[in-house]
Parts: sequence; structure tokens; C-alpha cells
Amino acid sequence: MITVLSGGTGTPKLLRGLRRRLSDPELAVIVNTGEDCWLQGNHLSPDIDTVLYLFAGLLNTETWWGIRGDTFVTHELAHDLGVDAFIAVGDRDRAVHIHRAELLREGRTLTEATAALAAALGVEAQILPMTDAPYMSHVRTPEGLLHFQEYWVRHRAQLPITGVVRLPPGRPAATGAALAAIREADGVVLGPSNPVTSIGPILECRGVAEALEEAFVVAVSPFIGDQPISGPAGALMVAQGLEPTSLGVSRLYAEFCDVFVQDVRDPVEVPGAVRADTLMVDEARSEALADVVLELVRSR
Ligand code: GDP
Repeated sequence: MITVLSGGTGTPKLLRGLRRRLSDPELAVIVNTGEDCWLQGNHLSPDIDTVLYLFAGLLNTETWWGIRGDTFVTHELAHDLGVDAFIAVGDRDRAVHIHRAELLREGRTLTEATAALAAALGVEAQILPMTDAPYMSHVRTPEGLLHFQEYWVRHRAQLPITGVVRLPPGRPAATGAALAAIREADGVVLGPSNPVTSIGPILECRGVAEALEEAFVVAVSPFIGDQPISGPAGALMVAQGLEPTSLGVSRLYAEFCDVFVQDVRDPVEVPGAVRADTLMVDEARSEALADVVLELVRSR
């Protein structure tokens, strides 16, 4: 079994390739929940949804969020009604958020709610929230402390950031299922996701770092030079006092990373890193990078 730590864009592209080489039951994905939020009474778990939809064959891979071909009738009417619906949620996507919210209100854990959704969507991979406790990323900006979704979606990352804070304070416990998936894996992959707001929260969950130290860990960089391939990872790394390059990412993961993979084009030298084409612009590139990662695990 291969266990992958994932956010909602870069790592799902690698999962797309891994699925072409392994059967879904051979994959476990520990997913960041630090971007979760409640909106109009419904529960959004953006990274879990992206991974769920990928495995269910529903994902819109133009945007890497939402359901392919979804409509936005409810969102548009909500907007007309004056609802502060700052995230455009598709109609079918919304059904998932409604159902998850119902399950949580009935007292199910996020792990149980995710398993129920996965089963209903015919997903055979294990999709595991990092924790069942709330643990949300917020950013410090001149407008105050904003939930990551407020910063990223409402403000389109156009505000300067001076720090990242997780709320509520204190590290939550990782779920037993997530820790078991690390312990039982032949190899663990820290995918090319945002190190500060996607992989970072997972690493902070109690038990994860200790479990990773015992595991064979391959990390893939989301940076080429001083730029991430997409998204706000650069500004977030700087706000956290980290160098916004593959070197900065490799230092963050140094404690438990056995092999670090960086792009062939990356001008920044990470000592001991394996070079590969990490730019997964299509399925073939996702597959080729998956082959590199699986070969590293096999030859450990
Ligand atoms: P989020 O949850 O939507 O923020 O998404 P992730 O954290 O999973 O992914 C965002 C990160 O993915 C960014 O830092 C990007 O640099 C990285 N990324 C996106 N596409 C690729 C790609 O094709 N290759 C690599 N190596 N990184 C990528």
C-alpha cells in the first residue's frame, strides 16, 4: 500500500498517475482539512472533495475543484437573495456538502462522514481526513486574521500576509486510521502540495511526525526556482520565515524525508535530491512522475 499526504491541487495530479499503476484499494490518502469551513449551513472540505471526486471519476480537472459539468443555479439564486456566498459552490457539489453537514450534525466524525460519502460514490481508495477535530488555517493580513478561504477566494490572495495561524490553538490528534495508514504503508508520499497550508497541517497533527520517522518517505517539491507551480505557497512560505524554494521545502520535511524529488528544471540545488519532470500538465506526465515515485519506494 502507498499512503499519500495531500492537499487539493498538486498532489491530486500525482494521485491521477498513481491510480494508473496501482489499484485504488492499494492507495490511502491522508487529506488536509485545514481549509474546511461551514457555508450556508453546509460543510465544505475542499481538499477531501477534490480527492473524493478524483477517485469517483467526477472531478473537474480544468480547475481541480468541483464536479465536472456542474451547474450553479442555487449559488446564483443565493447571490440574488443577498447571501454572502463568496465561494461558488456547484449544485451537485452542494449535495455532497449538505449530506456531510447532516452526518456531522448527527454526531458522525469527519472520518465516518468521509467514508460514507466515499462508499456512496463507489470510491475504493481510503480517503482519510488528517484529524476529526477542527484545525483551520488562518492568515494574518492588514484586514485582520482571515480564514484561508476568505484570503484565497474572497480576496483572491491579493492581501499581504505576515503569518499563518491555526485555530483553535493546540495541535489536534491525527486519526487512528491516518496513523495506521502511515504505519502499514510500503512507502509514504508527501505530495507536491502547499507546504504551509496543505502538508503543514497534516504534519502538525499529533502522531504524524513520529509515524513518518518510522516510514519510508518520498517528498515531491511543489516549487521550481522561487515560484510554486500555482497558488500562494511562495507568499505563505515567506510569511512563515521559510525560503520559498525547493530547498526551503526540503528543510521543512528534513526530519522524516528519505528521498526528496525536485523538478529537472529547478535552478535551486537540493543536496541529494532526485530530479524528475514534476510538471504534471497531462495524464502522461502524472503517470511518469508516479513511476519515478513508485520506483523509489520499490528500491528503498
Ligand atoms: P490546494 O489545497 O488547492 O491549495 O492545493 P495543494 O496544496 O494540493 O496544491 C497546491 C500546490 O500544488 C502549489 O504549491 C503548486 O505549486 C503545486 N502544484 C500544482 N500543480 C503542480 C504540478 O504539476 N507539479 C508540481 N510539482 N506541483 C504542482
